[in-house]
Amino acid sequence: MRVKHKPWAKEKLAAHSAVVIQDPASCKGRWNEIFGNDQPIHVEIGSGKGQFVAGMAKQNPDINYIGIEVVESVLVIALDKVLAAEVPNVRLLAVDGASLQDYFEPSEISRIYLNFSDPWPKKRHAKRRLTNPRFLTLYQALLPKDGEIHFKTDNRGLFEYSLHALSEYGMVLHHVSLDLHKSDFEGNVMTEYEEKFSQQGYPIYRLEAVFR
Ligand code: SAH
Repeated sequence: MRVKHKPWAKEKLAAHSAVVIQDPASCKGRWNEIFGNDQPIHVEIGSGKGQFVAGMAKQNPDINYIGIEVVESVLVIALDKVLAAEVPNVRLLAVDGASLQDYFEPSEISRIYLNFSDPWPKKRHAKRRLTNPRFLTLYQALLPKDGEIHFKTDNRGLFEYSLHALSEYGMVLHHVSLDLHKSDFEGNVMTEYEEKFSQQGYPIYRLEAVFR
């Protein structure tokens, strides 16, 4: 996501350390303690401006959400949304999803959301796609058996690639939709990108994938 660089972002994130966890590696294995409850923990990688994670937290108070966004100038916008939503069940991390194993113990999280992930259309960049087998191995090591990945995108090429990569990896696919907003899926919480692209008339692709 391209936003103006904000030199003050780091300082603002640090000033809200109850929401933006400053040393997430030290929380590894202790996330339920951090949330102060035993609720399941769902992680979104590439949260962007935070509308999804804030909206999901409001809609599902019995789930804990962790939004991961590597660009601090973007994460500060998510922070504002989480603060405005007044939800106790969200934490934000300014880290790279590729290092997920540094922050979570196996089975500590039960679902991963990928929303409008960068498509990396060039073949030589395929390894950077968040549905690449390299990432699936990482997710599988952290999710329990039957752990789920929920994925939405406007990008047809990335969706085709992901259908292939996930099934090739041996995951079972559910609720595959080639036009989410015309499907019977209920309770959809839109992301910023989703609003933008669907307003422009593009269909939204969605799937759920389960490890087995
Ligand atoms: N989910 C949001 C943003 C989509 S853009 C929405 O739908 O509106 C993709 C976002 O993922 C960008 O903000 C980018 O900085 C972030 N991102 C990309 N790779 C990442 C990674 N490895 N770890 C964490 N965030 C990542």
